[in-house]
Amino acid sequence: MPSTELAGLRREAEALDAADGLAGLRDSFHLPKGKIYLDGNSLGALPKGAEGRLLATLRQEWGENLIASWNTAGWFVKPQVVGDRIGRLIGAQDGEVIALDSTSVNIFKVVCAALRLRPDRRVFVSEASNFPTDIYMLQGIRDLLGDIEIRIATADRPLATLLDGAGVVLLTHVDFRSGAFHDMAAVTAGVQAAGALMIWDLAHSAGALEVDLTGANADFAVGCGYKYLNGGPGAPAFVYCPKRHQPHVRQPLTGWLGHSDPFAFSLDYAPDGGIRAFQCGTPPILSYAALEASLDIWERTSMQAVRAKSVQLTRFFIACVDAYAPHHGLVLASPRDDRVRGSQVSWSHPEGFRIMKALISRGVVGDFRAPDILRFGFTPLYTSFDEVWRAADTLRDIMQTGDWRRFAGERDGPTT
Ligand SMILES: *Cc1c(COP(=O)(O)O)cnc(C)c1O
Repeated sequence: MPSTELAGLRREAEALDAADGLAGLRDSFHLPKGKIYLDGNSLGALPKGAEGRLLATLRQEWGENLIASWNTAGWFVKPQVVGDRIGRLIGAQDGEVIALDSTSVNIFKVVCAALRLRPDRRVFVSEASNFPTDIYMLQGIRDLLGDIEIRIATADRPLATLLDGAGVVLLTHVDFRSGAFHDMAAVTAGVQAAGALMIWDLAHSAGALEVDLTGANADFAVGCGYKYLNGGPGAPAFVYCPKRHQPHVRQPLTGWLGHSDPFAFSLDYAPDGGIRAFQCGTPPILSYAALEASLDIWERTSMQAVRAKSVQLTRFFIACVDAYAPHHGLVLASPRDDRVRGSQVSWSHPEGFRIMKALISRGVVGDFRAPDILRFGFTPLYTSFDEVWRAADTLRDIMQTGDWRRFAGERDGPTT
């Protein structure tokens, strides 16, 4: 790449940082020195407020107040209170989101609940590019219930051709490899017109782009607390169920805290009439403390501002790498069109694994996804344009010098 172009991109990064309305939020996160962290789509960075929140929960709520804290510190209602805060980021109404369990467990609950609303349509539909756990959970439910057919959409067999007789469609909104995303409202309308219910997995959407579950008329959704929402490793995930379905849904994990009157200790299960029907057992209170510290930061901005910066970050990264990528065999595996690209950029290269190893060894943390994807996540709350430029420049140096050959003896595998 000509040095004038390099210098031009560096100046552009400076200008973008100077104009960045979210730059002030970066200081709300602990970001380790010497690292450019582009993997917030796998595990979000640590909010500085988490330590204080956790200590207060430990020392005062647990240590001093003990069991009284279920009421005095609002432990009982944590899943709903935190759920409502997440709901505001994804276009849900209050009372339609509950934060709890893992995304995989929540998929089990919502798929079973959806099937019970379409008992005669025993066909699940998903797509081959979906995240594996989603498909594994469908297979587990099929194995449990028998008489279920699973259809998987591929490039040759598009979703629209698989909907005849389908009851439940489960798709991930943003593709975890390419970062391309579905038109949520259009896909939902098509699925519902065919008589099926639409479940969205928002693992790579919540906190990454504007989502309007209400406007899209989604039937159910699930998502993660530890990716763009920065809730920490194993943070509570969430379930969305709109008010229109709540009086009718039954999910099979009928634990006592989903009961309409848990402390009546009656012998017969009767589900709560609202979103709490998706709760099963006792919530992990310490984990909510960290997630709440992150949600405090989200309240200082809007998803509109976050999405606007996200588009700028990904577009700028593509421009920086584009300047030399073709000479080194890096092929863009994400959409060029801003309107359908989430908050990540992926490049494919046959040596992708070893290139990512070299990047990580030099402090640029992205990840590798088989078979050949180098994946970079951009988190507008704490990623700067200077970091984007430096990450691209490190990648350029690795490609030009062949530095990745240091890892030539290593076979593809997880980079973390
Ligand atoms: C990360 C991710 C999950 C994670 O599920 P867990 O049960 O929380 O581990 C699920 N679905 C998708 C699409 C993901 O990207």
